Amino acid sequence: MIHVTVWNEDSAAESSEKVLAVYPQGVLGAVAAMFENQQDFQVRTAYLSQEEAGLTEEILEDTDVLVWWGHCKHGLVPDEVVTRVQQHVLRGMGLIVLHSGHESRIMQRLMGTQCSLRWHENNDKERLFVIEPSHPIMRGVPAWFELEAEEMYGERFDIPKPDELLAIGWYESGDVFRSACCFNRGYGKIFYFQPGHETLRSYYNEYVKLILQNAARWAARNRELDRPLRSEFAPALEEKR
Ligand code: ZN
Repeated sequence: MIHVTVWNEDSAAESSEKVLAVYPQGVLGAVAAMFENQQDFQVRTAYLSQEEAGLTEEILEDTDVLVWWGHCKHGLVPDEVVTRVQQHVLRGMGLIVLHSGHESRIMQRLMGTQCSLRWHENNDKERLFVIEPSHPIMRGVPAWFELEAEEMYGERFDIPKPDELLAIGWYESGDVFRSACCFNRGYGKIFYFQPGHETLRSYYNEYVKLILQNAARWAARNRELDRPLRSEFAPALEEKR
């Protein structure tokens, strides 16, 4: 079983009526549901107002993939929680950062950049082009697919060059965006995926769900590679002559 922790800055109860009209269980519930209906995932949810932002050492130790959605409360995630998540990623925990999580403190910490971008909310149609169809995250996804409306995220997206760029988004506003990016940090794998504005319906799209399910399997922590962060003494492999 892959242990997935879905994190959000709000519980569904704290979401606005506009959000709940689209996602009755909140964004947190909608994202959790796409993993809960798969047999190989064991899912828990966590959110900001819980003790230690819902991400205690015990919970992270039991997490193979952390899925992160945040929007306007990035600054309220405590330093020690950001550091704790970072350490787990470096030791091999997978991290999937969704939509407005691009500017979360954990994303900035792991990228080393501001992760800023250009944006507007005009309910633009978005067309996503898969540019690495052989990557496991894109298994079963067609060459391109459309989302009827999304928040426009445009370049330049201030990230380091992705280790793998899997999809480009095009919007009817004429903008383009690196919508699906993979990064390696230490022993951990990170996937950033752009769709998912809280008042639009992208988390019901079958390909968005498939990409995120594939991504969780790709990023899942390999417990055999769960290494401490300290350097270790290494005796010589060959005798000196
Ligand atoms: Zn948004």
